Amino acid sequence: MESVAPQPFRKARFVYFRCPSCYYESWHSYLHNRLFHQFCWCPNCHRIATLKLAWLVGATWGLVPPLIFALLIFGPFQSWLAGRDFVWLLVPAILTVVLSLAALPLFFRLTWEFAPYDGHVA
Ligand SMILES: [Zn+2]
Repeated sequence: MESVAPQPFRKARFVYFRCPSCYYESWHSYLHNRLFHQFCWCPNCHRIATLKLAWLVGATWGLVPPLIFALLIFGPFQSWLAGRDFVWLLVPAILTVVLSLAALPLFFRLTWEFAPYDGHVA
């Protein structure tokens, strides 16, 4: 059975959520974004949680794809790329996108931490 989220929360798939009040866990979140704040509605206990360190999570995520790209081109692709055209950089670039998307759920799982929130969000 699926609860209906109150306004203004919207369902987001593949976004990890762990309720700080009832410890309900899900790969679907009910999110509401406000400047510098991200709120999450728990479909189990109907309480609202807020994402801790949202700016840090965003900033850290911004570093992940460049890091993967650097590891690829200075690691397994270094000798393969030597003497080839720049256009071949597309191969590790595409691989970077794939790996970044694959790492995203794990990244959420490791970095997202929620705290109970008692105020109003509307
Ligand atoms: Zn809950």
